[in-house]
Amino acid sequence: MADFTELLAGYGRFRVHDWTRQRDRWAELSEGQSPKVMIIACSDSRVDPAQVFDTSPGEIFVVRNVANLVPPFELDGKRHGVSAALEFAVTQLQVSEIVVMGHGSCGGVHAALTQAFDGKAPGEGGFIAHWVDMLDDARDRVIATHGTGPDALHALELETVRVSIANLRTFPCIPEREAAGTLRLRGAYFAIADGVLHVMDDDGEFAPA
Ligand SMILES: [Zn+2]
Repeated sequence: MADFTELLAGYGRFRVHDWTRQRDRWAELSEGQSPKVMIIACSDSRVDPAQVFDTSPGEIFVVRNVANLVPPFELDGKRHGVSAALEFAVTQLQVSEIVVMGHGSCGGVHAALTQAFDGKAPGEGGFIAHWVDMLDDARDRVIATHGTGPDALHALELETVRVSIANLRTFPCIPEREAAGTLRLRGAYFAIADGVLHVMDDDGEFAPA
């Protein structure tokens, strides 16, 4: 795997090839961005939305975090990175779709399922534990049906998408726009092993795209 020095060599290639080829595009983008789609994905190094969807600069507004989660609307005076990005995408950029993309072999989901970091101090795993504990209700449902094996992991990976979409709807700006027909919420799941993207239908079921 590349270290930062090697990444700089990659930057050199980008500057000479991609950037030069899309020079006009970059010039246009320097005036502002107007992506139509926001994507919420996992921080996992294997599931870069720009790569999976083969997008160009300016096309997707992306938030990535552990297990592609959206916490519910909370007024607790704390700092909310996902909420701020969401607010910006919806009220300022006025995106017309928000896609939550889960994925296979998700370490965050594994942590939620096994509760491996429970009881750890913040900075030693406690932040992970408290972040993924927003999946606890889903975890209980999954374990009741699938136990705690590989099937459970997969089921909980799909649940992250449903939980995040349900939490998105706790932000008043979202159902308002859904009702007006100006915003649509979508779910997807990228299976790393075979590179297949599954898309969620209106009933919350996933099928290959
Ligand atoms: Zn993940």
